[in-house]
Amino acid sequence: MSISSTLISWYLPKKRNLPWRNTRNPYYIWVSEVVLQQTRVAQGIDYYYRFIEHFPNINSLANAHPDEVMKVWQGLGYYSRARNLQAGAKVVQEKFRGQLPANFELLLSIKGVGPYTAAAIASFAFDLPFAVVDGNVSRVLARLFGIFEPVNSSRGAKMISQKAEDIFNPQQSALHNQAIMELGALQCVPRNPDCTSCPFHLVCFAWQHQQVDNLPQKKPKGKVRPRYHNYMVVKKDGGVFLTKRAGKDIWHGLYEFPLIETESPMDDQTIQNTQQWNEWFGNACKIESLSDEFIHQLSHQSIRARFFMLTVDSKAFKLDSSVFLCPIANLRSYPVHKLIEKYLNNEFK
Ligand code: SF4
Repeated sequence: MSISSTLISWYLPKKRNLPWRNTRNPYYIWVSEVVLQQTRVAQGIDYYYRFIEHFPNINSLANAHPDEVMKVWQGLGYYSRARNLQAGAKVVQEKFRGQLPANFELLLSIKGVGPYTAAAIASFAFDLPFAVVDGNVSRVLARLFGIFEPVNSSRGAKMISQKAEDIFNPQQSALHNQAIMELGALQCVPRNPDCTSCPFHLVCFAWQHQQVDNLPQKKPKGKVRPRYHNYMVVKKDGGVFLTKRAGKDIWHGLYEFPLIETESPMDDQTIQNTQQWNEWFGNACKIESLSDEFIHQLSHQSIRARFFMLTVDSKAFKLDSSVFLCPIANLRSYPVHKLIEKYLNNEFK
């Protein structure tokens, strides 16, 4: 029996009933693949339904206001995924009349669609013969064939891709890809897989050589950068000041309170000595309260945030021109990142 046949025989009785497996709609499949990047299936299902309910087709996504897209994505993190999805939808609307093309190269030409997503759409929606390689597949292949090259190095990734091609079954593209991804998700899990019940235990390099815990190998991640966010919560006339993050930094396109970012943690005395504080508030402001620290971990950043609740002399302070007064009743209608969401849940219930 070939590896692919064994995979498919294992998969058919074991597979989970996931919504994106019951459709051939390439747009739904695209959305599901983007949602599932960096997200667990259990969390992704709700967002998948929410997203396709709000934006049922490419044109509705392409034509939506970017704030609306971010609002629907709020809480899922890695917001560039949502921005790229909408940018890609615009390309599909303009270049392909709102229909995802049944062609791997053309799919790759769409903004935000990389080799993995293009292969997934090509295979799952159109049954085209492209092997899908995601984290689960890499783990299975590294263990099955004893690939010790780090899977996140270019050499390791090439070796994994080659193995994925070698065992690929072009006659049953979608089924084969679903099966190997599911084996990684359910059977060949990162820690303590139950190898004795695996259909490959007799041929698996890692199991046969007691190397399961050592595979796959990964290059260590870079350093985590600490950041200190000091948010100025300034209330006025039943509203609070907000601004939209811009530039190439994290969370751009999301809303937050005016921010003073510093190199080290600030207390209520030291924050008042910063240049930004003086430009915005001078002496026209009083700190009413200072929140506890909120910590948010991203893959390469660790953000510690504190919220300074201020009262101001309304004539004397001068915030940036991008800052606007948002009625408190409307606060929840803006897309915000996790730190602001946590704070709002505590202070603006
Ligand atoms: S035998 Fe164990 S390590 Fe090998 S593929 Fe199966 S679950 Fe993974």
